[in-house]
Amino acid sequence: MADAVIDSVMARASEEQIRLVRFLYADHGGIIRGKAAGTSRLRERTASGIGHTVAMMAMSMLDQLQPVAGMGPVGEVRIVPDPDTFVTLPYAPGAGAMLADLVKPDGSPWEACPRTFLKEAIVELAGQGYGIQAAFEPEFTVGRRESSPGGPSIPDRLIPLDDSLCYSATGFHLAHNFIMELVDALEAQGLEVEHYYPELGHGQHELSVRHTGALRAADNHVLYRETVRGVAFKHGLWASLAPKPIPDQAGNGTHLHASLTDLLPDGAPGGRNAFADPADRYGLSQVGYHFIGGLLAHLPALVALTCASVNSYRRLAPQMWASAYSCYGMDNREAAIRICSPLRGDPGSSVNLELKPSDSSANPYLALGAFIYAGLDGIRGKIDPGEAVNVDPATLTDSERSAGGTHRLPASLAAALDALSADEMMMDALGPLRAAAYLAVKRSEAAHFAHSTDPYYECFHHFTKL
Ligand code: GLU
Ligand code: MG
Repeated sequence: MADAVIDSVMARASEEQIRLVRFLYADHGGIIRGKAAGTSRLRERTASGIGHTVAMMAMSMLDQLQPVAGMGPVGEVRIVPDPDTFVTLPYAPGAGAMLADLVKPDGSPWEACPRTFLKEAIVELAGQGYGIQAAFEPEFTVGRRESSPGGPSIPDRLIPLDDSLCYSATGFHLAHNFIMELVDALEAQGLEVEHYYPELGHGQHELSVRHTGALRAADNHVLYRETVRGVAFKHGLWASLAPKPIPDQAGNGTHLHASLTDLLPDGAPGGRNAFADPADRYGLSQVGYHFIGGLLAHLPALVALTCASVNSYRRLAPQMWASAYSCYGMDNREAAIRICSPLRGDPGSSVNLELKPSDSSANPYLALGAFIYAGLDGIRGKIDPGEAVNVDPATLTDSERSAGGTHRLPASLAAALDALSADEMMMDALGPLRAAAYLAVKRSEAAHFAHSTDPYYECFHHFTKL
């Protein structure tokens, strides 16, 4: 079976004249990195992987290596691609890509591999009798990177491509050529485009892709991030999925949508949406409420993984449609967790939960894996999520909020990391090596940006990398 998949990769690489295949992974800084194999040895390299230093999972998004035991200059992992994920890259002629695991030289999983973390979370969930469908729903900003007239010591800025209004027809016109090429490139890689519209911020767009199994959804999000930037670079533009690439414009969320599905006795997905209960006032099943209970119980720690950069917390402000409070609500776009109402004609299958404190500075494998562990904890512990908040939580008084169990989300990456390190369940799920490396990398980023009061310095470092 595996041989047949590699055969088909080799055949496609030859037909499409692919010369280099990128083996891609996402690191603890949320950066997508990788190494490429030439196609003449692609078969061997797909089996063996490409050698890589263990230290790269201790590298921050500023390329500053952090001291982490077990991730020094001595030690090796292999970047082993999953041939099922092979795509040719429409924006990079001659190149293909596969999503990769980080594997020990003896072939066993490495304790710090993010993709393995998600796979393990999916297995845990299956042990509870559920599969999961998920989709990342990204926003991004398209513009030009311009150097500052103030000289090279002043950081470059992202100048948005347009000043069109939210969902405006003018916005569609101005970005049309770029967006059409993006749609073509995503669909050529098997990502099904669901919706597209110009968003609130200048140069801001949202384009969502169809939900799928959780591992595929995270793989898709890596391909998506690569494609948005790759197509923009080809046009001489600069696109960024950073949470807040421009200080005074709307932030870029990457809301995480998910629903559980039943599993058949043989472990195959049964197809029934386990979150759906048409008899409930919000259409949500008991297991859905428990899943929310788990998300809320672990939310301060979870955001350290889903809103994973210093820049994330510039976005998570009240009344920015990004969510700033730990509550859930029915179609409430200011609640951290939104129960999405089912679509007419599809009541049984379209109800899903949306996590709004989530953005593309996260490692999507860690974000979705941690989301699953939090929800699973709610299912196992039958955690009651309390009452839905169906108003903007920012309009409530402090005492009204605390009476309903609604609290401000961590206001900085440093605060979220403290919550993560205090969350026993989440730290156990991450395991000691991954947790130590993640906290070291992220604390170093928090410390770095704490030295500067210039928002453009922080935005520069995020829009250039994400
Ligand atoms: N831009 C908002 C955010 O940062 C989301 C707006 C919306 O699509 O509701 O999450
Ligand atoms: Mg949006």
